[in-house]
This record gives sequence, C-alpha cells and structure tokens, in this order.
Amino acid sequence: MSKFSNERTASLVPYTPGEQPKKNQKYIKLNTNESPFAPSPRAQKMAADAAARLNLYCDPTCRELTELFAEKNGVEPECVLMTNGSDEILNFAFMAFCGEGRPAVFPDITYGFYPVFAELNGVPYETVPLREDFSINVEDYIGINKNIFIANPNAPTGLALPLSDIERIVASNPDNIVVIDEAYVDFGAESAVQLTKRYKNLIVTQTFSKSRSLAGARLGAGIADAALIADMNTVKYSTNPYNVNSMTQAAGIGSLLDEDYTRKNLDVIKSAREYTAKELSALGFTLTNSSANFIFAAHPDIDGEKLYFELKARGILVRHFSGERIKNYNRITVGLPKDMQTLVKTICEILESIK
Ligand code: PMP
Repeated sequence: MSKFSNERTASLVPYTPGEQPKKNQKYIKLNTNESPFAPSPRAQKMAADAAARLNLYCDPTCRELTELFAEKNGVEPECVLMTNGSDEILNFAFMAFCGEGRPAVFPDITYGFYPVFAELNGVPYETVPLREDFSINVEDYIGINKNIFIANPNAPTGLALPLSDIERIVASNPDNIVVIDEAYVDFGAESAVQLTKRYKNLIVTQTFSKSRSLAGARLGAGIADAALIADMNTVKYSTNPYNVNSMTQAAGIGSLLDEDYTRKNLDVIKSAREYTAKELSALGFTLTNSSANFIFAAHPDIDGEKLYFELKARGILVRHFSGERIKNYNRITVGLPKDMQTLVKTICEILESIK
C-alpha cells in the first residue's frame, strides 16, 4: 500500500479471481466456471470484423446488442443495460441503490464479490446463514426490508430456488431492490426475467461468460423496470460510458444469433455434470444438487485443501475456498466429457494413495 491510498482503499480486501495458468502451464482447467467450448464461430467472425473499426469509439448505448438481447428475452430495450461482465452491473446496483441507510443483505455463502462491492461503495451489509445443507431459507428474506442480492443458482453451491420463492421475496420487499444474479441460470434454473415486468424492484443480472463462452470478452446484462435501468445508466455515464467495447458488442450479437450452438454445448455440459456427480457420489463424495456448470463436493477421507493440491499436482485445477463452512469442499467446473473422465480417474488414484 502506498502512503497515498485513502482510508477506504487502504482497508479493502479485494476479490481474488481464480488462477489463470501461464502459457507454459498445461492444466485441465476446472476452476473458474468458464465454458470448455470456444465462442460460436459467428461470434468470433463478428468480433474479428469489428477489430477493423477499433479506431472509432464503440456505441455507448450498445443499441444493436441491447435490442437483440431485449427481443430474445421478451422485454423492451429500455429495460436492458449491457455491461462489462455481470460484475459491472452488480457493482452498478450497489452504487445506485445501496449506501448509508440503504443496507444490503445476502447469504453467508455466496458469490465472494458481493461483500467486496459493498465495502468498496461504503454499503452496510449483513449476511444470512444458509441452512446446514447450504439451501437458502426463503423465510429469512420475507419482508427483510434491505436490498437483497441472491445468486440463482447460488455459487459455489449450485443450488437453485424455484421462481415461486423468488417472487415471494420480491413481492414482500417492495421498498427495496432485489437483485437475482443469474450467472448460471442456463444450466438448469428458472429465470426471473419475466417477473421484471410486474415488479418494479427486481433486477435480474445475466452473463455471456458461462453458457455463451465469452468470459474473456466481458459481457453481462441487467434486466429490470426502465426506471431502475435509468438509475444504473446514470452510474454508467458517470464512470465509463464506453463500458462494452465494440469487439465485445459484436461477439455478443454473434452469440445471440447462434442460439443452436449455445444449446448444443449446454446439453453436453449438463450430461457431463450428471456423469461426474454420479461417479463422485459412488466414490463417497457429498455433493449438492447443482443446477450450475460446476459441482460442489467434499469427501470424508480427504481434506478439501489437500484434494485441491493433489489434483493440481496431477495437472487438474479446481477451486478451493477457505471459508470455515466450506473448507472441506471443492468447486469443480464441468468441462468436456473426456476431461471429467480424467478427473474421476485421477480422484480414484488420489483416494487409493491415501488408503
Ligand atoms: N455472479 C456469479 C455468481 C459468478 O460466479 C460470477 C463469475 N465469477 C459472476 C457473477 C460474474 O461473472 P462475469 O463478470 O464474468 O459476468
């Protein structure tokens, strides 16, 4: 820390992104919930074409992309805001709606960026413990009268809430915003997008990083009542009007025009998830019933951190979190079927070696 940092920066504990191996390190990479598939050929081509126009500023309104995304979701374009990854729309929500006297609340085990955004923006926040089985107790949020952030499916547990529960939470907190972070929704949860037409306090956030294979492009979106979108646009135009670069806008359009590609990949990932869950259960792992593109698993005979290091030593990267309640677990991204077979085989060897 330099002697120039202000009080808030000095006390921040930043988010730690998952490890990105260096070029010469060859891992089976199952640690940051990326897609194992390349972006759709159409997305790649449109991004490459956009490179020739990088001398010009990108469209700050993301008009074409916004209109297409809105149409695909059955909402009006003024109810959509495209952002630099969904991390940015989450930050915009904290900046626009939370603060002194407008506290935030989220589960004790969830996406690690929520408390970081809260601290960064000087937002008072509380966490609500998940149940013993890591499920969200919906009753905890009914009429809680704070701004609510819930990932659905939740991370790193993968557990999803039904739409009816989301609606109860939203309806019971009309004077607060409810942000439903749908980063993993395509892998098996019900989307709350249609509820944004009926509830003026609901923001749904989505990403192109997971099911759409565009993590490196950084593209996310918020869907909400037009008044909420306008408030977040005020934040956007007060920080970085050109938040989504032109290659990314083009890639996003290409991806949306190539739904079949995404759907096919989703089918492969979901069946690889079922395969992996079945095999790991048979090996004695405790697993959550994941609706996401990752598996959250613990084994009674091997400490979570030890398993993480043993896998890493054998060329497989997974994600381990040190939080007290989850330190025995690892979050394993679902990759290609052949990589999941290698994972299962490697875990068998590790379990054999510690007998
Ligand atoms: N929400 C959740 C629950 C996540 O796990 C992630 C990925 N780290 C994000 C949001 C943000 O993803 P991105 O910024 O790539 O859209």
